Amino acid sequence: MDTTELVPDWIRTLIPYQPGKPIDELEREYGVSNSIKIASNENPIGPSPKALAAVQAALPDLHRYPDGDAFYLKKRLSEVRGVHRDRLIIGNGSNEIIELVIRTFLRPGEEVIVAEHAFAIYQIVTQAAAGHTVRVPHRGFFFDLDAMAAAVTSRTRMIFLDNPNNPTGTIYFRDAFGRFLSQVPPGVVVVVDDAYAEFVNDPRYPDSLEYHTPERLLITLRTFSKIYGLAGLRIGYGVAPAELVDAMNRVRAPFNANLLAQVTAVAALDDTEHVRRTQEVVWSGLSELKAGLDRLGIPYAPSWGNFLMAQLGAGTYEKLLYEGIIVRPMEGYGFPGFARVTVGLPEENQRFLQAVEKLQHTRGA
Ligand code: PMP
Repeated sequence: MDTTELVPDWIRTLIPYQPGKPIDELEREYGVSNSIKIASNENPIGPSPKALAAVQAALPDLHRYPDGDAFYLKKRLSEVRGVHRDRLIIGNGSNEIIELVIRTFLRPGEEVIVAEHAFAIYQIVTQAAAGHTVRVPHRGFFFDLDAMAAAVTSRTRMIFLDNPNNPTGTIYFRDAFGRFLSQVPPGVVVVVDDAYAEFVNDPRYPDSLEYHTPERLLITLRTFSKIYGLAGLRIGYGVAPAELVDAMNRVRAPFNANLLAQVTAVAALDDTEHVRRTQEVVWSGLSELKAGLDRLGIPYAPSWGNFLMAQLGAGTYEKLLYEGIIVRPMEGYGFPGFARVTVGLPEENQRFLQAVEKLQHTRGA
């Protein structure tokens, strides 16, 4: 079938997002078993026991539609985060809120500014909405916020930042963010994607929620997929001025956040012990990975997230698959020879480091 007339150019030329390879697929295709996946920045210790209990308790209600306004989740988020419920929007993962922001505010042909090596979804969704992405070069592994502010033109509608950035793992600091906000003209929407905020342990880190003012077009995105361990349920939220939330709610599908996700997110939010344990495992795992890579002489980007981008060398991604280890290749993100490795459980981190060491020896032989 010839779809040339049917499919717009900006859709035909879209390069789809490449998710991490699922374990089942690896084992089917490579005939390996006992595989580990440290490729999608998921929570290494799994979901909170309280979240699991909430799923169980909600199962008999599966024939019901969820609450389209997510009353209880917004209530709890409003209490915990200290923002009025009218400033909250709930999404099928924070990914859906990225889509809602773009579909609600971007007109075809307008510009969206992103950093060159930022999370790929901003660019994909912009293109799908017939927008134009302006990519601003990184400074090393870091965002250049001054250059991003300077890239604003009369056609700029919004700027996306993710802090920490996926895939580099780097953050920008409070002083740079404050300066950036003072440079961005009033009509430009600033979207700050704080998907990995809870993993950051650095006083220089700007929590974007603290920078909201009634006049500022600032949108914060948060997710339950990472520290809260609920990636499979798909739930995230945004904080924005109530007028922006109202506009996005007009575009949002009626029951976008499913019933299990809503109740489970409330339980996960309240399980502070699970959050603390996750931080402990991730922080010590990150140190373990860095120490191991240092020992092997492998360079890596500094990371404030639950993952790390390491220069393992061309072809290592494929070789690790044969060892039953899934990491994320970084060619598509403009870092050839690098792979993004999610911090796993201690035994997973060790298995990864041992496999890399083994490959170094075979390469040298
Ligand atoms: N933002 C960033 C920076 C991410 O890395 C991810 C997930 N990889 C997301 C948003 C989307 O997360 P989710 O849709 O699972 O909330």
